[in-house]
Amino acid sequence: MAKTYRKYWDEELETAPREKIRAMQLAALKEMLDLVYNNSPYYKKSFDEHGVSPADLKTLEDLKKFPYINKYILRERQQAAPPFGDLVPVPEEELVYMSASSGSTGIPTASPFTLQDFEEWQDYEARLFWSSGMRPYDRYCHALQFTLFVGGPDVIGAQKVGALCVWAGTVPSERMLEILRQWQITVTWTTPSFAWYLGETAKAQGIDPQKDLFVRKIFVAGEPGGSIPETRQKIEELWGADLYDYYGLSDIFGACAGMCEAKDGLHWAEDHILIEVINPDTEEEVPEGERGELVLTSLKKRGRPLIRFRTGDIVSYTSEKCSCGRTHLRLHGIHGRLDDMLIIRGVNVFPSDIEVVVRKNPDLSGEFRLVITEEKHLAVLTVEAERAHEYSGDIRQLQERVITDCNKILGIRPRVNILEPGALPRATHKAKRVFDERKNNR
Ligand SMILES: [Zn+2]
Repeated sequence: MAKTYRKYWDEELETAPREKIRAMQLAALKEMLDLVYNNSPYYKKSFDEHGVSPADLKTLEDLKKFPYINKYILRERQQAAPPFGDLVPVPEEELVYMSASSGSTGIPTASPFTLQDFEEWQDYEARLFWSSGMRPYDRYCHALQFTLFVGGPDVIGAQKVGALCVWAGTVPSERMLEILRQWQITVTWTTPSFAWYLGETAKAQGIDPQKDLFVRKIFVAGEPGGSIPETRQKIEELWGADLYDYYGLSDIFGACAGMCEAKDGLHWAEDHILIEVINPDTEEEVPEGERGELVLTSLKKRGRPLIRFRTGDIVSYTSEKCSCGRTHLRLHGIHGRLDDMLIIRGVNVFPSDIEVVVRKNPDLSGEFRLVITEEKHLAVLTVEAERAHEYSGDIRQLQERVITDCNKILGIRPRVNILEPGALPRATHKAKRVFDERKNNR
């Protein structure tokens, strides 16, 4: 394995000066606005109603004049003009592939691709995988859902890297462990909860993930954990592997951003998608480094371009150059979904904030859930966490420490219940951590 590989997938693009990236984005955006205005009935009508046209875009700042879209609009336009909706600006003959959202929050929405979209997307996935250190000598197990799911075809990106790919899909943990062991898989992709669960399951079966398996890199997405240092470290220690967080969105790409080997934020491929971060209430742009809602604009994908799409995901970002030399901006992580945000006595609380507290405390097992109840018309937050097996100290004192740690981060003192180890149910794929009892009582 003496061969050394190049550092970047596409050095010129990945290390381009910021001004050059901005110029590239402006040129691509102009073309995209022309395409949608002239060919999509929805965008034509919406731009006209807002009194804007592609000619109004002289700088990237001018994008602010254009209207937002969101998930409800996608769904509504799809129903108005089935099957793909009237945001699509290309003839059906050009479409070669579609994924669809799970529909967990309503009717599934489709994301169609042209052949060029599909090929560019896979090159982009290869670039992300390469930045996380995947190389042609790797054996990659794609443990993501294939049915309609936009993360399925990302496996082709790994093949483009030159890795040997095993298309596993979502299989039970025992079967997954067999696949990892038998084929000596070195890289895999799953959710943080499943990576943790799988590692624990292996140990329970007498398999040492560090000695008996060959996994050196784990890619995760779908939950905030991959960007929470405390969670990442726990999974890395369990596996003796590096963990890289990825971000994807069913309405655009499987993976839109991913961690490089520096593991200091998720690089965004700015040649494909332009991002804005806004205050969800005022819709004003928030300063770099502050939390706000992620808004995306497609720069290349012609199958169903999204112009100013409000994702509902809360993020923060930096445009500082990364120690890896890449200049494309980085998300500090996905703090949560707007839908998951709890408002407790006027304070915004994301489950990921509590996760930080619980995971960094060595006297807790790391499992937790949040229960919301109502007392005298006020929301009450209770954090349920388990003591670690090894902890035999005073439970009251542990409880008080957790309350103090939560207060430092959130500015409120939740109730805390310390349970016995193993008392909480273990999550497999996506963990449900919030139980809003108020909804059951209405
Ligand atoms: Zn980097």
